[in-house]
Amino acid sequence: MEEPQITSPHVLLFPAPAQGHINVMLKLAELLSLSSVRVTFLTTEHSYRQLTLHSDVLHRFSLFPSFQFRTISDGLPVSHPRTFSCHLPEMLHSFVSVTKPLFRDMLVSHHFSSDLSCLILDGFFSYLLDIDDDFVKVPIFCFRTFGACSTWTILSIPNLIKQGQLPIKGEEDMDRILDNVPGMENLLRCRDLPGFCRPTDPNNDPILQFIVSAFIRSTKFNALIMNTFEDLEGPILSNIRTLCPNLYSIGPLHALLKTKLSHETESLNNLWEVDRSCLTWLDNQPAGSVIYVSFGSITVMGNRELMEFWHGLVNSGRNFLWVIRPDLVKGKNGEIEIPAELEEGTKQRGYMVGWTPQEKVLCHEAVGGFLTHSGWNSTLESIVAGKPMICWPFGFDQQVNSRFVSNMWNLGLDMKDLCDRETVAKMVNDVMVNRKEEFVRSATEIANLARRSVKPGGSSYANFDRLIEDIRNLSRKKTAVNN
Ligand code: UDP
Repeated sequence: MEEPQITSPHVLLFPAPAQGHINVMLKLAELLSLSSVRVTFLTTEHSYRQLTLHSDVLHRFSLFPSFQFRTISDGLPVSHPRTFSCHLPEMLHSFVSVTKPLFRDMLVSHHFSSDLSCLILDGFFSYLLDIDDDFVKVPIFCFRTFGACSTWTILSIPNLIKQGQLPIKGEEDMDRILDNVPGMENLLRCRDLPGFCRPTDPNNDPILQFIVSAFIRSTKFNALIMNTFEDLEGPILSNIRTLCPNLYSIGPLHALLKTKLSHETESLNNLWEVDRSCLTWLDNQPAGSVIYVSFGSITVMGNRELMEFWHGLVNSGRNFLWVIRPDLVKGKNGEIEIPAELEEGTKQRGYMVGWTPQEKVLCHEAVGGFLTHSGWNSTLESIVAGKPMICWPFGFDQQVNSRFVSNMWNLGLDMKDLCDRETVAKMVNDVMVNRKEEFVRSATEIANLARRSVKPGGSSYANFDRLIEDIRNLSRKKTAVNN
């Protein structure tokens, strides 16, 4: 009798084409590869071009001979700016009309080989497949790049509508507390809901309905993988488990990867060119003296907001390192007039770059705080680095994240819905000086919990081992059936 063939498991990963999603799913890909899982990483042609131009991924993943990149069209012309914040409806339309049929054809024709053990699909793309699509043939695991707090909030929206707590009735209603989101009693106000929850007729708002149904759909797949950890979001994770019991909380993934890599290395997965000169600048600043300012990869702002932040930072009298992406400011055409006092203040105490190696920056001892848009990756990176935050959430999950940062975890202040130079300067001084001790104390406590969760014996470490074992079992089952 022929010996059954034993092969290592093969997993297909498909992230949404955005920096935060690609970065974290490449970290998962690296972790899977280190555990001898064969990985095929599917990404859009545009993201692949940016990624290979600005990062060392090809070199880094060449260590894993069975790792492969595959690309798929996003259906948009090469010259399209692909800014999620400005073109979301158009991009969603293109993913549904072009990417979805292409992806399904690829699965039907075994484009990724017929030996897949499972598929790990970004929750953002949950509308690309149905759990009962019989051509898929393998279990679908959904990877949620959001935290549990925002995921559970979005999953609770149908109940909030049913109970009459939504719609929000105008500006004067924004500070009303929302009852009945289990695990978040007395915490969330209307203004802490994602921006897409603000329409006057939520039952008939296409974007709100699309997002909520995509979230509900993602709990119906075979498993949910989340980049968070039990000590941070345990009670909320328990609520999500009532909808999707097979949930692996394995974060913070960037910290888990550091644990698993035997050598000190950087896993940068940038879609923008990194400017490392900021590290040299930081080396020359006193410990804890710099507020790091970054609004992630998607946030955009107008000239007015740029100027308010700029004045606020200069007026605060603190040192600042500020990421100004080339597309951060809407419609600027390079024509901003810069007042002399800002030029002078920036020369004395500031440094501006287009893109930083953020994980490294946050861990630098010169950085004492983080003015952030509260993207989930940035929030976790700040938590692991033990740095207090000032939150200026822009959209999506960020309104919820910033509320948790300020009012649940006591890691800093929430500047939500405000943007004026006095508030910016005051909050910078509160976080960096006046309330520094209080925030650093909670930041250090939570950083220790985060680091412990990714070490042997920690919850995320154990959950990742369980994930690998479950993937291996799927592969064994498949081999047994085929033999
Ligand atoms: N990032 C970076 N350099 C920068 C700004 C951001 O490497 O100058 C990274 C950051 O470390 C994080 C990601 O970009 O991993 C942003 O993801 P997040 O979820 O915070 O926000 P998004 O960009 O999705 O809004």
